[in-house]
Amino acid sequence: MSLNPSEPHSAPLEALLPLEAKISRGERLTADEGLFLYRMAPLPWLRTQADAVRLTRHGQEAYFNRNIHFEPTNKCVYACKFCAFYRTPKATEAEGAWDYGFEYLRHKLDAYPMGSLTEIHVTGGVHPDRGVEYGEALCAFIKSIRPELHVKAFTAVEITYFAKKSGVTLTEALDRLKRAGLDSLPGGGAEIFDPEVRKRIAGGKAPAHTWLEVHEAAHRLGLLSNATMLYGHVEEYRHRIDHMLRLRDLQDRTGGFKAFIPLRYRNEANALSHIPEVPAEEDLRNYAVARLFLDNIPHLKAYWVMLGLDLATQALDYGVDDLDGTVDDSTRIYSMAGGMEHPAVTSAELGRIIRSKGRVPVERDSEYAKLRAV
Ligand code: SF4
Repeated sequence: MSLNPSEPHSAPLEALLPLEAKISRGERLTADEGLFLYRMAPLPWLRTQADAVRLTRHGQEAYFNRNIHFEPTNKCVYACKFCAFYRTPKATEAEGAWDYGFEYLRHKLDAYPMGSLTEIHVTGGVHPDRGVEYGEALCAFIKSIRPELHVKAFTAVEITYFAKKSGVTLTEALDRLKRAGLDSLPGGGAEIFDPEVRKRIAGGKAPAHTWLEVHEAAHRLGLLSNATMLYGHVEEYRHRIDHMLRLRDLQDRTGGFKAFIPLRYRNEANALSHIPEVPAEEDLRNYAVARLFLDNIPHLKAYWVMLGLDLATQALDYGVDDLDGTVDDSTRIYSMAGGMEHPAVTSAELGRIIRSKGRVPVERDSEYAKLRAV
């Protein structure tokens, strides 16, 4: 295993040439080849290959949207070790807990004139008292006051809990949410699928097969979704490959993932704070390998809220074609773990960043339809 950036990552050219040929022919990489790239491929070589694949897929366009997040509560029945966001269900406001009602959300949305947003992203803690009825009511409330917004809501972990609490199947829960106004699923809660690693960092919450079942059921109901991978903590490269392999297999069956979003582990204020964060080179290596390995998920997103804008800008050279959205200081998940305080950026700034890489900024909707060049 070579997660240490001081190790050479220096495969000889003769070992890289067959892979280069395979990538240029658009052939799928095996798990062993993916692992080899993580361990041995020089970063400049990975950059060249991933950038070429990105260019073939998306030309010079790079995407973003105008979105906000809503995190209804950070009270959670789980206690994932990497999480700085959650508080116990009994925690008080003084202890940093919150639980916002629908009127709070109305007030929040009132601050955005009609047409200034296209998407609301809703995720939060897994509240002990909430079943699918809560999810239905929230989706319906959003649609009642802002019918034009795409509602991307609830991780597979939240949906699994909703279903259990309400005594319904995953498919029934998703179907009810969809009827109430849910438009797509975010990719959160995937963390790392390997059972041993998952147990160490996120013991107790929905296991990998359940996360995948939720997304498969969603895709079969016509709901698209994203997929994430939390990296840079206790996992090894083989666990990342295993994770992406499971996503690739599911995507072969359903075609329902829109974007893959690697999420870097941030180490403030959690139970794993002794683990140092990976250096930027490791983030870039991860984006490039993901672009090369995940040949059937169309978009690769650098979530700037987690990376910071500078690193997200660099990631555009490593296979990334999407920078997420304007966000407007509406999420605390990463700022509580060491990410940027008050994350917000304008469309114009995202456009400037994308143009700084010689690319064409395109505002998209939540399903990647192009809305306008910026
Ligand atoms: S990651 Fe999600 S499920 Fe885990 S403790 Fe944090 S809020 Fe709860």
